[in-house]
Amino acid sequence: MNNLRILIVGAGISGLALTKALLDRDRGFQVDVVERRADDGQVLGSGLYLPANAVRALRGIGVAAEVTKRAEPVARQRLRDHRGRPLAEFAAERIWGEVGPCLAITRAGLHEVLRTAVDGTALRYRTEVTAVAEDGTVTFTDGATAAYDLVVGADGINSAVRRTLFGGPEPRFLGQLCWRFIADDTEIPGITDWTGRLGAKGRTFLTVQLGAGRVYCYADINSPVPEAPAGDWRALFGDFGGPVPPLLEQGANAYFAALYESENTVWTRPRAVLVGDAAHAFSPSMAQGAAMALEDSLVLADTLTTIPDVPAALAAFQTRRAERVAWVVAQNHRRDKARNLPTPLRDFTLRRAGERIFKANHAPLHALP
Ligand SMILES: Cc1cc2nc3c(=O)[nH]c(=O)nc-3n(C[C@H](O)[C@H](O)[C@H](O)COP(=O)(O)OP(=O)(O)OC[C@H]3O[C@@H](n4cnc5c(N)ncnc54)[C@H](O)[C@@H]3O)c2cc1C
Repeated sequence: MNNLRILIVGAGISGLALTKALLDRDRGFQVDVVERRADDGQVLGSGLYLPANAVRALRGIGVAAEVTKRAEPVARQRLRDHRGRPLAEFAAERIWGEVGPCLAITRAGLHEVLRTAVDGTALRYRTEVTAVAEDGTVTFTDGATAAYDLVVGADGINSAVRRTLFGGPEPRFLGQLCWRFIADDTEIPGITDWTGRLGAKGRTFLTVQLGAGRVYCYADINSPVPEAPAGDWRALFGDFGGPVPPLLEQGANAYFAALYESENTVWTRPRAVLVGDAAHAFSPSMAQGAAMALEDSLVLADTLTTIPDVPAALAAFQTRRAERVAWVVAQNHRRDKARNLPTPLRDFTLRRAGERIFKANHAPLHALP
């Protein structure tokens, strides 16, 4: 498969990670990457929690040391009610054991590390793919076309590669809306690691310490429609206590998003494959989006390197990934259901068995992908 001409569509987490993993294999792959954004400066300015299997995949890609320099360790996870009363608390090590540490980083920080790691690659910004054909012909927004041996759709939940070549169901609204922002916590004591504060009616306010006086705040609510409610969103969390009110003061310009999921059952065509959110986008409940995107990249680079026939390598990729991804989807659904338990039952369950539940929820992800 030397000189295989590969186009990676999308320079997000999965596209950049796959580029790095393929170049590391040093098999003469000719990799082009196209990205519709103008440059990395436009990456959404919020944070990412990277569970231990995501950090392990970053080690596999060879960038964990650089990521760790820019990240903050997440040593403990705490669950509290909306007023700050403890529901459960445990060391991340108890959940992940030998898999390794968990980290928190800005999205821009992770992108910068991945982007720097593929310096020298043919990466074109402001270049958008509009369609891909079965024979590997790619069409761009300006009408130009190019032919590739393999096209990788790493173009996120609304993937043009998936839409034009795979068909498949449209992303499904999950009945949740969220707001994300990074706040300065130098004047707000007591914010460390990862703390989820759970309100009634499925409301969550999560803080993840990013270091250097910055904290990533993520707030979500249930909603029957994918539109932001009228008025200032922060009023929806007016009954939350502890550090939430001073953090909300900084949340006027938070990024709003309606949450969707999409799961294609078929990720491969003879000359195309989907990775990351293009193949499977989840609810953020398990924070496994980046981890699954990174694992996909490693496994695809592996199968393309070890199996000479491209369609067979792609089929092996999906076989290796399908069960694990399906498990994460099901786990997200279970968690999303649990957020709507009556508050007394939810609190009782977490107080009695929070650590045990978290441990069981992550155990299958200890195995290598
Ligand atoms: C609210 C929220 C919070 C989250 N929090 C976490 C978290 O804490 N931890 C975690 O692990 N995951 C989290 N995730 C999930 C995570 O962000 C995604 O799973 C991850 O970004 C997927 O990476 P990707 O590269 O597959 O897709 P993306 O990051 O979406 O990248 C796709 C890239 O393709 C480009 N593109 C799109 N279409 C085209 C086209 N036609 N032509 C060229 N380029 C194109 C886009 O500009 C983009 O740069 C969260 C998701 C959401 C919605």
